[in-house]
Amino acid sequence: MAKLYDVIIIGSGPAGYTAAIYASRANLSVLMFQGYQVGGQLMLTSDVENYPGFEEGILGPPMMEKFEAQARRFGTEMIPEDVNEIDFSRRPFKITTDSGEYLARTIIIATGASAKWLGLPSEQRLQGRGVSACATCDGFFFKNKDVAVVGGGDTALEEAIFLTRYANHVTLIHRRDSLRASKIMQDRAFKNPKISFIWNADVTEVLGEDEVTGLRLRDVKTGEEGIVPVQGLFLAIGHKPNTNLFKGVIEMDRAGYIVPIEHTMTNIPGVFAAGDVTDHRYRQAVTAAGDGCRAAIDLERWLESLGVDVGVENWD
Ligand code: NAP
Repeated sequence: MAKLYDVIIIGSGPAGYTAAIYASRANLSVLMFQGYQVGGQLMLTSDVENYPGFEEGILGPPMMEKFEAQARRFGTEMIPEDVNEIDFSRRPFKITTDSGEYLARTIIIATGASAKWLGLPSEQRLQGRGVSACATCDGFFFKNKDVAVVGGGDTALEEAIFLTRYANHVTLIHRRDSLRASKIMQDRAFKNPKISFIWNADVTEVLGEDEVTGLRLRDVKTGEEGIVPVQGLFLAIGHKPNTNLFKGVIEMDRAGYIVPIEHTMTNIPGVFAAGDVTDHRYRQAVTAAGDGCRAAIDLERWLESLGVDVGVENWD
């Protein structure tokens, strides 16, 4: 017999944990599927220095442990598994994972987004040691250093311009000879004396043992190889919202981000979404946490409006 929860939260980043803290503390029965990769994108970050309340900064992984402990303290149950399938066709919703079936009166989708990576073994090895996908998070650590940004869209230019606050020099590496970014961003980047451009180039290897010392590039037209000495590499080749499971059911924009219809509620009544899975603009831990709070408050009010007797042990 499947157990019925007031809310099942999918995802264990700042949005998911904050929703769990609020919902558990409001006496709702809460189960979170944390995913096999517990903790979300912050598990890939080193120091987090811009999350209010940690004046000395904190590393991403221990920060997520604190989020988790706080949610457990109020009674959130957690299972470190991915969700395989959801039956949205009737309430309570049925969720299937490797360990079984679970029922939910409401669902919060907080599955986040993933930065796209080039897929090089050297890039993976040096993640958090000079390779980053978030200039806002890590730019500060590159004061007076030479860094490179890969990509040709608005994010790449925004990150390159942001990095000039800290870095000695920023080299933007793009695989074509024209940018995809908006004209205004292009104008700003071209005018910035700290930014230079390498066109028609692919990064084929990130150089360095324990920290980044340079990049091996290949000219996509001539095949010629070269080395650029940099101490940091920022990937800005786009993000992918983790929404495959919800395609065709939950309303999304063209890029696959969930579009909430009423506050944080999606087009399916009782299904809410929070954090980066709905947000390609801010993508910050603090904005995701704020979103998780909103989703928990929205669903509590929604259950109340239906007159549901929440918080009691419920069985199918
Ligand atoms: P994007 O527009 O999809 O651009 C991704 C860039 O990365 C493209 O230039 C692409 O090259 C390149 N790229 C993709 N895969 C690559 C690979 N494997 N190797 C090398 N290069 C690769 O993504 P985005 O810049 O993150 O922007 C996403 C959306 O958010 C856009 O609609 C953008 O306008 C918006 N946005 C707006 C602002 C703003 O208004 N301030 C700021 C950030 C983002 P190609 O050009 O060759 O395809």
